[in-house]
Amino acid sequence: MPPAQNPSSDPAAGVPNATQDLLSEAGHATQDSEFFNPIPPGYVPGRHKYVVVFGTVLSGIGKGIFSSSLAKLLKDKGLKVAPIKMEGYLNIDSGTLNPYRHGEVFVLDDGLETDMDLGTYERLLDQDLGRGNYVTSGQIFQKVLQKERAGGYLGRDVQMIPHVTGEVKYMVRDLAVKRDADVVFIEVGGTVGDYENAFYIEALRQLAFEEGEGNVCYVALTYVIEPPALGEQKTKAAQLGLKKLLEAGVQPHVIAARAKNPVEEGAKQKIAMFSNVPTERVFSMHDRASIYNIPESLREEGMDRGVLTMLDLHGRLDAKHEDRARAQWHGFVKKVNAKRKFRVRIGLTGKYAALRDAYASIDKAVEHCAAHLNTDVQFDWIDTTKMAAAHASQALEGFHGVIVPGGFGHRGTESKISCVQHCRETGLPYLGICLGFQMAVVDFARHVVGLADAASTEFEPNAKNPVIDILPEQKKIEGLGGNMRLGGKDVLIKPGTLAAALYADQLQGQKPNQQTIRQRFRHRYEVDPNAIATLEKAGLVFSGRHPSQPIMQMLELPQPGTPGSEGRPTHPFFIGGQFHPELLGRPLKPEPLFMGLVAAAIKRAHPDADPTDISPRWLVESGRPPTG
Ligand code: GLN
Repeated sequence: MPPAQNPSSDPAAGVPNATQDLLSEAGHATQDSEFFNPIPPGYVPGRHKYVVVFGTVLSGIGKGIFSSSLAKLLKDKGLKVAPIKMEGYLNIDSGTLNPYRHGEVFVLDDGLETDMDLGTYERLLDQDLGRGNYVTSGQIFQKVLQKERAGGYLGRDVQMIPHVTGEVKYMVRDLAVKRDADVVFIEVGGTVGDYENAFYIEALRQLAFEEGEGNVCYVALTYVIEPPALGEQKTKAAQLGLKKLLEAGVQPHVIAARAKNPVEEGAKQKIAMFSNVPTERVFSMHDRASIYNIPESLREEGMDRGVLTMLDLHGRLDAKHEDRARAQWHGFVKKVNAKRKFRVRIGLTGKYAALRDAYASIDKAVEHCAAHLNTDVQFDWIDTTKMAAAHASQALEGFHGVIVPGGFGHRGTESKISCVQHCRETGLPYLGICLGFQMAVVDFARHVVGLADAASTEFEPNAKNPVIDILPEQKKIEGLGGNMRLGGKDVLIKPGTLAAALYADQLQGQKPNQQTIRQRFRHRYEVDPNAIATLEKAGLVFSGRHPSQPIMQMLELPQPGTPGSEGRPTHPFFIGGQFHPELLGRPLKPEPLFMGLVAAAIKRAHPDADPTDISPRWLVESGRPPTG
């Protein structure tokens, strides 16, 4: 990494006066100053740059996608980037949010439950995020109130300005130091003018004043309307939205104008005139066939260079790194845009069948695999709350693969179990995720082992055979009390299984019989250790376990012809994980379980497909993983 732009052992050297003044106040609330500006240890002004993305006019127009695409362009040039999403709501995290209202809960490796935007950043940046990358008003207020109770504000009246804003700036700078970021990307949730994000905007206004010229770049995302009745682009809403930002004391440097069609020159000029932003810094961000085209389109528009110039970052770039990264990314985007050779239908059972956002990561994980496997995947949602259990075979007709995803509560579970049963009995490729893993255990216990009253205590608290149970004792072993098991954990993979074949790349180079993968969890219930031996005896294979405890984390049925499977139930592709593999699906690193499912679906839909067209190739060639 090239040296920082302001290399100096004296943090205050070469820094604007305003910042020097404030640094001398660092961290102290005193009676004789109005400043409250704690600065994290090790902070070097000028070392870290900031891009702040605000939304105007309306939310839901892809602020996160825009911000992560721009961050990706800079990362590909060899810069270290760290995104932070600032949420206006008062929840401490997303754990209690209903996915039907808010989209899926995205779990980070450190166990924080965040919203789906963090997934967009992780996927586009191919970077694991953590607590520092996600902040809610609830977290900020909690910190301020705790500090106040502890006497942390030295008798001052605790105020939105400077105390709450001071904590916001601290979080941003702390992230910059901890990740040694060249550029921190700050995305402010909601739109300018919302009550709930006003203090973020104020804090970020102050940030630019303190950091000085050339260190903070404000980007405003706006929306250009094109009413069908008029047939032309209208910029009034955009003008009003941008004016709101100016009223808050923030002069944007760059404007990204979302629109259905390319934003016309005249519209750009009007926006420029009303916002003091030169026309060449008003970029068109019109709809694209795929979000994966956005980084390249921002580059074509020159947005990356504009930002780099503004932040004086050209000296830190690494051209070789960029060549490699761009070639790789282009390879993927080419596949995304290509006409596909195969076509399969995959069914997803779910309570939230009406809302795609509730399963955003599954959707994306499958989309990556579809591109890599040259396949059009038609996704269909099966609402199990409306489906009678006896109708599984009817409901699954015409599918080439089925996913039973994660979920909570008892609604629709009986229908899900019969979907699993149908897949297991008919050779339909099956992937069970979290609840889908548990439902596969219940199906197997009921219909193969013969325990007719097997169930999960989540939906049958008094079940006679609780093969899935809450087991707080188990969790204590991991130090979790009786709560949700959350975040990244290791999974010990059993050699010679389908799981071992699918994850071969990740297992390579690890010691035999100690090979692990890392996956993210979010569950309360689990397989009752007392049921393990019975299930295994009847042929269920637990191919992934906790490295030292009897916690089952993956299951499968052996593929036909697998040594030792004679006389036992077999299946072309039947696998489940107690974790959420979809959270780790990345465009350039498609998640192996989804790759396996889509490949198995291709094999079912196109039995004559040329094996060289499909990877993992073994799945098509022999129908079973290579041994040894
Ligand atoms: N409801 C189940 C549990 O709590 C599964 C959770 C999930 O699918 N995320 O264990």
